[in-house]
Amino acid sequence: MSEHLVSPSTGTLQPLGIDQVRITGGFWGERQQLNATTIIEHCEKWVEKMGWVGNFDAAIAGRLPGARTGRQFADSDVYKLIEAMAWEIGRTGDLAMDERLRALVDRIAPVQEADGYLNTNFGRRGQVGRYEDLPHGHELYCYGHLLQAAVARGRTTGDDLLVQIARRAADHLCEVFGDGGIESVCGHPEIEVGLVEFARYTNEPKYLQQAKLFIDRRGHGVLGDLELGRSYFQDDIPIRKSRAFAGHAVRATYLAAGAVDVAVETDDEELLHSVIDQLAHTVAARTYLTGGMGSRHEGEAFGGDFELPSDRAYAETCAGVGSIMLNYRLLLATGEPRYADLIERTLFNVIATAPGDDGQSFYYTNTLHQREPGEIAPTDEASMRAASSLRAPWYEVSCCPTNVARTLASLGSYFATATAEGIQLHQYAPGTVTTELDGGAVGISVATEYPNNGEVTIEVTDTIDEPWDIALRVPAWAKEGATVNVNGTIRNAGPGTVTLRETFAVGDTVQLSLPVEAHWVEPDPRIDSLRGQLAVERGPLVMCLESVDLQSGDVNAATVDRGSLTDDSGRVTVSIGSIGDVSDEWPYLDPAVMGAPTGPTTEMAPTTLTPYHAWANRGPSTMRVWMPTG
Ligand SMILES: [Zn+2]
Repeated sequence: MSEHLVSPSTGTLQPLGIDQVRITGGFWGERQQLNATTIIEHCEKWVEKMGWVGNFDAAIAGRLPGARTGRQFADSDVYKLIEAMAWEIGRTGDLAMDERLRALVDRIAPVQEADGYLNTNFGRRGQVGRYEDLPHGHELYCYGHLLQAAVARGRTTGDDLLVQIARRAADHLCEVFGDGGIESVCGHPEIEVGLVEFARYTNEPKYLQQAKLFIDRRGHGVLGDLELGRSYFQDDIPIRKSRAFAGHAVRATYLAAGAVDVAVETDDEELLHSVIDQLAHTVAARTYLTGGMGSRHEGEAFGGDFELPSDRAYAETCAGVGSIMLNYRLLLATGEPRYADLIERTLFNVIATAPGDDGQSFYYTNTLHQREPGEIAPTDEASMRAASSLRAPWYEVSCCPTNVARTLASLGSYFATATAEGIQLHQYAPGTVTTELDGGAVGISVATEYPNNGEVTIEVTDTIDEPWDIALRVPAWAKEGATVNVNGTIRNAGPGTVTLRETFAVGDTVQLSLPVEAHWVEPDPRIDSLRGQLAVERGPLVMCLESVDLQSGDVNAATVDRGSLTDDSGRVTVSIGSIGDVSDEWPYLDPAVMGAPTGPTTEMAPTTLTPYHAWANRGPSTMRVWMPTG
């Protein structure tokens, strides 16, 4: 059984399953372990506590709509949790978790109606009718997550009750929304990726056909108008005609991922290249240094080009997940390392940032400048989403924690791929990769402390009697200084892909050395809100200035000396001063009368920077990624 996260029928690179890429330790191993021991159980506890699983019980007991809790899409978080558990059970064989998953599915199954319809929020007496609120109802969005959960279960465990439920739901929606049915789409894309993957899993082409219909219908105003405009749910312009991602960032990235799936399976080069161009534009002008996407709180939306304010960054954790879903699909389709670059940036600086060290608190939005120290969120009640400035245990709308859980459980898939020629390593963590080539099984093990240092040692553990490839991504940030050492022969490697083709013997080693030392980052001056500011990156990590490390304690008044950067084996420091008060009366000065506003008024002091993903793990603080130089 191949435990693939996605399984395109064609593409430059073939995916490897979570059974073929195992992460055994290091930065990501620790996070997978935290997911296994804490994050998933935390999500289980909260979907119960919030009554979101109880909604299914209430449906059976005839207590809906009165007893229903949560927003329209509450069912989806139960499905995302089940997906996370399914991958985790596949990864570790956790039998206790398997029992809990079955118990959840047993509570969902009886709610499915005779025709396959399944949702706790619609269609009963006293509820809005089925499919009467497509712009906001999220009914098909919920099915999309159900289908993804079923694929995870099917590929890791087999065709069980969850897969049967999903099949009935998918058949139902093809009947209702197929040709001659309701000529519309769901306000929140997600059904598209769900349907295509379910088509791949079941070999049933009608599910793919339905996904294609949804992609083609969208963008013609089928959802009507709403206050935030049609672009909010990407219904203003067909995706194949769009220029850049716009509107709600999670919707936009999920839709684009679904469009790539449809394009790949239907050989639609125009659609594929349209999404490739839109992502390129979005990366060039609408993406934060962290990889975060979405710069407007209003509509949780992308801003215009170069509209990337640090302190108003929305950068929802789920938009990071959506970006990774999309970039992974494009990596498989094209083999281009730039997609793995963005996956790396987003993993280290959005996905790793969301959960706190405790595994029981999460960011929903990921600001790049926190102006005021947050309040510690209550541990026993859900927080409002964007209002929380510290990680919170749960949210009224809590899409992000379960999204982090399913991403961490299936993480290995993103790290390596295969072709008929060999293995490609895209991300670096201690672990193993195995695959079958025509000549037999090949395998490698990876040892590294990345990203603490840039040394990655790859050892051949299984080989064949003919040449095969080990291909390594040299990240775009490794502008110079990367080297590859194959059995003692060293050569320089620029950013991109280094392919080593040899008749490898078991025990052969390849040493990749990446220059992770800290360096300054200068923004494109067209990002007007960042002019005159600098940031620091260390390898794949974006660094930040946090008030707990700052003598003055005030990051808002900080000014940085651009000559001051040091990196002592990962202890990164810069000189920070603090600007003083200029006027207590009116903050706009006439330089002809008053002279120019004064510069730093405190002495510059060496100050330690913190990896952005680790901020706010030491109590309430203020923080900034971009530091003014004046
Ligand atoms: Zn979210």
